[in-house]
Amino acid sequence: MLTSDFTFYSLLVPSIMSSLGIIMLCISHYNDLPHYLSSYAYALILFGLAILLNTILSGSALIEISSLVAILYFLSCAFHSKAIYERLTVDYLWPTYIYLISLGAFGIYYYTQVTADQTARLLIIGMTTAAIYLHRPIVFLRTPTRLRIDRYLKIFTFVTAVIAIGRAIVLTALLNDEGFVAHYEPAWAFTQLLLLLIELIFLGMFISCAILDLVLKLEQERYRDPLTGLLNRRGLEAYIQKINSDPDLQHAVLMADLDHFKSVNDRYGHQVGDLVLQHISQIFKANIRKKDQVSRIGGEEFLIVLPNIQKDAAFKIAERIRLQLEDTPLQHEQQHIDLTISIGVSFFKDPAEIEEAILAADQGLYQAKQMGRNQIQSA
Ligand code: GH3
Ligand code: MG
Ligand code: MG
Repeated sequence: MLTSDFTFYSLLVPSIMSSLGIIMLCISHYNDLPHYLSSYAYALILFGLAILLNTILSGSALIEISSLVAILYFLSCAFHSKAIYERLTVDYLWPTYIYLISLGAFGIYYYTQVTADQTARLLIIGMTTAAIYLHRPIVFLRTPTRLRIDRYLKIFTFVTAVIAIGRAIVLTALLNDEGFVAHYEPAWAFTQLLLLLIELIFLGMFISCAILDLVLKLEQERYRDPLTGLLNRRGLEAYIQKINSDPDLQHAVLMADLDHFKSVNDRYGHQVGDLVLQHISQIFKANIRKKDQVSRIGGEEFLIVLPNIQKDAAFKIAERIRLQLEDTPLQHEQQHIDLTISIGVSFFKDPAEIEEAILAADQGLYQAKQMGRNQIQSA
């Protein structure tokens, strides 16, 4: 039943894969791991099992259970593909997986039990693997990626599909007279190593994705205001550090404060007041340039930094914000809540002078309030 050229070294690849999968599943039992990591853990365990059977069983035993081994292997590819699709937020299709697995397993059965044809078997394995990974190629290609690592994951999925087919073709060319590649021939050992390497690269990518998500989430909590999603004071300070200190450039700060916001709170309640803050945040975001940053530095006070900008362009942005808020009252339960904002503007060149610029913008804001609100002033 066991192969005669069995050595303990041959257990290395399957046992590493299955152990990694089992460890990941154990961790996911106690901690909330992202779905894609759990799916990938199942893929590793199934893959390890399939390789284990392939490695330790003798040729005749393997032929008897070839469909089972094929199902295990294709199922591991399906879980692997599911993990990739989950990570990239592409909808995967179980019916298609099951269809491809059945088709592949039937092909393997046919070419072992009915007509023994190793070439056909190798090609079926390669093509089915590639088809499972890319079972929705157009949607997979079109879905935009969020992080750079996601783009690499996408590219590497295509590479893996190509390798699966290439491996089948290479092994077919290397078949010996008896019709199968002996386990310890260099080509077999090389493709085993290649499979392990591919899995390790995928594992590395999935773990990097999880770590990056965690870092981004922590940064979000540290640097952003949870109500509006705008930068908080700490985020603003970090952003200011990054402003270009080229003395030829001029930057602007806008200090904005909602008019009579207390009376909105008094009249409609604090929760509606919060909706107003979200409403004005959307207006800010819609009217600034990509490189500008808005921060919420107080209850209803906002500081907008406009790096590298001419004076009239900065006033234009401020005016656009003021006008759009005036023209778009907040709609809440059939009520139109009219809102206005006052804005102070100032300019600076050296980022080290931003504190003075903020004070000047604050004076501009004070003047705007004094002169009747709903206007823009510079000190
Ligand atoms: P002015 O035109 O002079 O700015 O009048 P104002 O009523 O806006 O004056 P002021 O700046 O003193 O009022 C700020 C109000 O903002 C007081 C507080 O109730 C409200 N506020 C501060 N933070 C929040 C918040 O997170 N949510 C809500 N709903 N209200 C807040
Ligand atoms: Mg106010
Ligand atoms: Mg205020």
